Order: sequence, then structure tokens, then C-alpha cells
Amino acid sequence: MHAIGMSALSYLRELQGGVRYRIYVPDDIVAKRSHELQGYQEAYDRTAKTIEAHEEWFKRALVEPLIYSVPRPLNVDLSAVVVGLMPTYDPNAWSLKTPDGDDLIVVHTELLSALSFYNEVQLTYLFLRDENTKEARRIFGQGMEFIRQSFVDRVPVQYPAIPHELPSHFQQLALMKTMAQELFVIAHEFSHINLGHTAAATETMSSVIQHRSVEKIGWQHRQELDADFQAFRWLCGLKSSSRGLVQFVSQAPFLAAEVLVFMHVVESFFATGQQVSSHPSALARLKSLHERSEGVIPETIRTELFDMSNILE
Ligand SMILES: [Zn+2]
Repeated sequence: MHAIGMSALSYLRELQGGVRYRIYVPDDIVAKRSHELQGYQEAYDRTAKTIEAHEEWFKRALVEPLIYSVPRPLNVDLSAVVVGLMPTYDPNAWSLKTPDGDDLIVVHTELLSALSFYNEVQLTYLFLRDENTKEARRIFGQGMEFIRQSFVDRVPVQYPAIPHELPSHFQQLALMKTMAQELFVIAHEFSHINLGHTAAATETMSSVIQHRSVEKIGWQHRQELDADFQAFRWLCGLKSSSRGLVQFVSQAPFLAAEVLVFMHVVESFFATGQQVSSHPSALARLKSLHERSEGVIPETIRTELFDMSNILE
């Protein structure tokens, strides 16, 4: 059980101890990407197959460049926040204050797998659409069935490799979109912390400790929209000297907001009457981003948001 004086990292390890680790990139997908993307196998092998190694990779590739690049001033020192991965099949991400008052962000590996798989399905659909519309639709429909199992049935899903070879620029775009969307997810959680939302949520959190499972945090819808807005402002204001992928996102921040389009597809594809998220609807979030960003972010980017929400309606 929890001991006083425990660091956020030990606390995270304790939570992780309650779930069985599952590698979040299945072998046949690794094999396929290695075939299609030069250097993929090497990069993947370097992240030995432990949760700590995946976390280290996640930190170096995404979390640290993001923290370095977000506009100052900030209310809290984001570099002091522990960001962990939870190897569980519920597609989710959350932030909380540990019983000792430290901030902690946890991203479930299933959310990363689902985003990655969805982007590959989407790019395959776009690649095949003109030449072979029927096959493109089949791939999309089958792909969404796997996503449905994850988001609605909440069962472990072994995402398969898609049986089509994509040109490398399509593969690379799928990976870039995935990471841009992951950045939005992380920035959203950092925003909850920066806006002081975690401080007010200790009560809900005690249930997480007791059940050692990951329960949704009862943020209010207002707080979700605030966190989205803060996250998107950060992504639109990234330093031009940002490193690696973060620099790419600084040039096309709307790619990160596409995670809301994904959520909308999930919500509308599986409209079972059951809510798949504790958050407001993805379309409402996209519209709110557009409305609130007037005069704050460049109009060229706002237009992208407007177009996205218009297509979805
Ligand atoms: Zn949230």
C-alpha cells in the first residue's frame, strides 16, 4: 500500500505493478514497418522491450522537446512532472496529484497503439481510394472494427499489420500524425496541471489507488475545454528552435488537433448511446477551440480548425 514520502515515480511503479505489461507495438507491425521504413527496426530495438525503456523513449522523443518548446511563463515547472506509460488496454490518458502532492501524468499504451493503427488505416485508405475504392473501404471498415473493440468492448486488441505496402512518404506521414496527436494528448494533460485542475481532484484519485485500476477523472467539461485551449495555444506557439518532431508540429499544429477528429470518428462510428469518454464531445471541443482562439492564434490555423469541424458536421 501507499507509503508517505513516496516519490511520484515510485507511486507510478506501484500503479504499474497492478497491470500486466503488454508490448504496445505487436511483432507483425514492427516487421512491416521495418520493411517499409528505413531505420525503424534499429530505432525500435534500441528501446528494449520494457516499460521503462518505452517511457525513456517517449520522454526523449516527445515530452522533453515539448516542455523545452512551450511558451513561457508557466504556472508550474513542467519538467518536474513524472510522465509514465500504463500498459493496459483501456485507451486513455490522465493526470493527478499523488498523495504526497506531486504531479503525475499517465498515458495508456493502448491509446498510443490505437492512434498509430488508426493513422495507418487512414493513410492506407487515402492511398488506395482512387485505384481500388472497394478495397480502401474494406480496410477502413475492418480497421474501425479493431478500434471499436478497443474503445467500446474494452478488450485487449492485437492490432494487425495492414496487408498493403505503402510508399514511404505515406508511412512517414502516418507516424508524424501519430506523434503530433500524442503531443496534443500530453500537452492537454500538462495543461490540466498548469491550470491547477489536478490540485482539486485528490478525492477522485483515492479510488485509483484503492482499485489499482485506472478510472476516469471527473473533470468538469469546462476544465476539459480550458485544457484543450491551453494545449493548442502552446502547440501553436512552439519555439521555432524546437527539436525534431516538435519542430514539425510547430509548422503544422492543426495535425495535433486531428486527435479530436479521431475521437469524433470513434464517437460517431460507434454511436451506441454509451459515452466513450468523460470529455465533452470531440466536435464540441473542436468548435470551442475555434471560437476561443479568435485573435489569439493565427487565422490560417483557425481556418484549419474551422474546416475540420465543418467536415465533421
Ligand atoms: Zn482532460
